[in-house]
Amino acid sequence: MPLIRAIYPGSFDPLTNGHLDLIERGSKIFDELIVAILSNAEKDPLFTLDERLDMLKQMCSRFPNVQVDTFEGLLVDYAMKKQAKAVLRGIRAVSDYEYELQMALMNRKLQPQLETVFMMPAEAYSYLSSRLVKEVFRLGGSVRGLVPELVEERLREKFHGTAARF
Ligand code: ADP
Repeated sequence: MPLIRAIYPGSFDPLTNGHLDLIERGSKIFDELIVAILSNAEKDPLFTLDERLDMLKQMCSRFPNVQVDTFEGLLVDYAMKKQAKAVLRGIRAVSDYEYELQMALMNRKLQPQLETVFMMPAEAYSYLSSRLVKEVFRLGGSVRGLVPELVEERLREKFHGTAARF
């Protein structure tokens, strides 16, 4: 049986426990999973590509069949280069559906051999997004339990210039 390799693309700015939940689920059903950070997704990301890569690599090291990479350009081109058969995406709520459906159908038009697979995170993470994490943290709210401790530390360094608890 051939190995099934999947790509989990995203901005991961920053990585949340929702992303990690999906990575863990994906690692169980695919032989290999490549978490791929899109380098041109957002014009003004909070974390640089290298910072995001570093956090993801550290947090994914416990999954032996998960690799972390970056890519630019079309996802379908990157997926073909990596000989991947599937793209993994997360659906949190109905609000994700329309955008994700559009993307999946466009990717299918571009590359019919590539399947998009959707997974749902644990309910506890269904309201969680990188954008909200940044907003809550910036306004002084707690993001404990929503992002890995490493990410919390990096957020503190970014916003307060120190890793110490404030
Ligand atoms: P993008 O800019 O591609 O949406 P994100 O990093 O925001 O990048 O998300 C990458 C993928 O992870 C998307 O499919 C998104 O729906 C999914 N995702 C983001 N947050 C969660 C979460 N809390 N639970 C499940 N999936 C999520």
